[in-house]
Amino acid sequence: MSLAVFEHISQVDSWVNSQQQLGLTIGFVPTMGALHAGHASLLELASQQCDRVVASIFVNPTQFNNAEDLLKYPRTLDADLALLEASGCHAVFCPEIGEMYAPEEHTSQWNYGPLSHSLEGFYRPGHFNGVLTIVKKLFEAVHPNKAFFGEKDFQQLMLIKRMALEEKFPIDIIAAPTIRESSGLAMSSRNRRLTPSDLPVAISISKALLEAADAGRTNTPGQLLHQTRVKLESVENLKVEYCALVNARTFEPIEDWPSERAVLLVAAFVGEIRLIDNVVIP
Ligand code: AMP
Repeated sequence: MSLAVFEHISQVDSWVNSQQQLGLTIGFVPTMGALHAGHASLLELASQQCDRVVASIFVNPTQFNNAEDLLKYPRTLDADLALLEASGCHAVFCPEIGEMYAPEEHTSQWNYGPLSHSLEGFYRPGHFNGVLTIVKKLFEAVHPNKAFFGEKDFQQLMLIKRMALEEKFPIDIIAAPTIRESSGLAMSSRNRRLTPSDLPVAISISKALLEAADAGRTNTPGQLLHQTRVKLESVENLKVEYCALVNARTFEPIEDWPSERAVLLVAAFVGEIRLIDNVVIP
């Protein structure tokens, strides 16, 4: 089966309907393109768990709180289609902006407490309203059985789970682990913009996080957070925006180790490129 490319909601909707009427399950992998091995791992997981895999490529303008970041976001459609085809993906939905948004349309507003308003929600105002608005529209268009999201964007993943639950989408949200370069650097479309001299600076983020994950719960949460912050803040040319240790479900900061998972998250600038990464402390 070769890759079907759809630009209109009506096309992807009726193709998915036809597959579901045959009793086949649909796995959905939403992306903003500039695909790499991290995205490929989601496609692989989707093809293991579902009969048909649908990806989407849409650089969603409403989730960019910085106009220049949107302008400079890498766009590599031909290479993306080749990667999707090679990964055995069955269909891709690549809408124009006008297909997803009415002129002057505003994003919906979500308030899930610290989960929506702390960290990424605080430092990128409006970002999550943009993300949840487009994910909801994509879920309505594609109506998959399962949707796959990376732990690389941990806060986003937890918010989408919460939104799917509250909006009663009959879609299983599946989390996929972060895929890293051999250096430890979390793969990201934004890494393409790093210069050779930026690379060691960027790698220091994952290094500090992976060391913290190795240390696990041997120290108090406060000690672990402090050690990680000190490491990151000592790196030349790295500007740390936040480094936080929170309950992985609620995103409340923690003082004692919870019975649930904890997650240590970082956002930092290497030059003008903003990178995020995290590790779960089980
Ligand atoms: P994006 O194209 O950056 O919006 O990402 C699309 C999906 O791929 C999201 O669910 C991301 O969390 C996921 N993703 C991005 N980078 C990675 C990675 N390094 N490992 C695993 N998943 C990733």
